Amino acid sequence: MIPYGRQFIDDEDMQAVVDVLRSDWLTTGPAVEAFEQAVAGYVGAEYAVAVSNGTAALHAAMHAIGIGPGDEVIVPPLTFAATANCVVYQGGVPVFADVDPQTLLINPEAIEAKITPRTRAIIAVDYAGQPCDYDALRSIAESHKLKLVADVCHALGAEYKGHATGTLADMSIFSFHPVKHITSGEGGMVTTNYPELYQRLHRFRNHGISVDHHQRQEKGTWFYEISDLGYNYRITDIQCALGRSQLKKLPEFLKRRKKIAEYYDGALKDIAHLTPLTVSPEVSHAYHLYVVKCDFEHLQITRAKLFQEMREKGVGLNVHYIPVHLHSFYQRAFNTAGGLCPVAEKVYDQIVSLPMFYGLKDEDMHRVISCLKEVLGKHQ
Ligand SMILES: *Cc1c(COP(=O)(O)O)cnc(C)c1O
Repeated sequence: MIPYGRQFIDDEDMQAVVDVLRSDWLTTGPAVEAFEQAVAGYVGAEYAVAVSNGTAALHAAMHAIGIGPGDEVIVPPLTFAATANCVVYQGGVPVFADVDPQTLLINPEAIEAKITPRTRAIIAVDYAGQPCDYDALRSIAESHKLKLVADVCHALGAEYKGHATGTLADMSIFSFHPVKHITSGEGGMVTTNYPELYQRLHRFRNHGISVDHHQRQEKGTWFYEISDLGYNYRITDIQCALGRSQLKKLPEFLKRRKKIAEYYDGALKDIAHLTPLTVSPEVSHAYHLYVVKCDFEHLQITRAKLFQEMREKGVGLNVHYIPVHLHSFYQRAFNTAGGLCPVAEKVYDQIVSLPMFYGLKDEDMHRVISCLKEVLGKHQ
């Protein structure tokens, strides 16, 4: 069975983990800082805070910019639910702005139409690994005095106009779940260039504890202060050692993903009613996902049947994503409904993610395409 995504772990990764297990620090030790510095250095950001997963990183970002009850945060509907859930954790209201039908990235014009006096921030999502139009997003954020947060969980290693993701917004959020470019098992990170945001993220990860050395000197070495409400969102040294070891392989990982995407792009030209997403010439795409739009109205097969028949041939497909506003929780809690984001809703019926991961061999990607052709050919 060819899955749609899979991690790649080598002996060096395993050794890095074993080294930590033999060391004095399993958590809050030197491997955490080393991983933070490695990612900050890679993307070119001043600060990085590693946390237990990407969702915790999003939550920490919402806390850091002070999102609270009634505050509105604009998010795209075509993303993993965590992008919107993090707003709700803080008592805020996620407001869905529709996507562009060609790239499936949040549409700047749709954002402007959703801005109200209660809007505080925008969370952009670099869907599939393609950076959004950050010039447009930054200009909207500046003119309306909004914070710009980038959910770059799909886009480690991507670039917009030569600038790496992780530096294009006030804060950027990474995930190191096994399906992402590099993994730490579970793990997440926020990068920023703002020292005050860095301090808030740091405290939030550890119960809101501030370690003020001056206070400790005055009040005793046992003293610490809970200055905000925080959580235990710490990540272990074990995970960070794995993450840092993986990061060394990222250039190779990205190269392979691009190669696979190039092959799919070429192969899909011969298949009627299947179209890849548009890629802007201004970006370097990181290809977390390879998404194809299938015009099922003109194909003689349903998506469910396509999934089933591909599965029988040993090829795993997926769909990214069910529009977040259509989930029953959002319908109940925020009165969202079908019709709110017509582009995302229409495209949701068409999208299929093909297998895309570093370890996908040439013969596997050839098989994906030949199986697709066979299944679609059978249903002409
Ligand atoms: C993976 C992902 C997340 C959440 O990351 P976890 O590490 O699984 O919590 C958030 N947003 C997007 C777009 C993702 O793909």
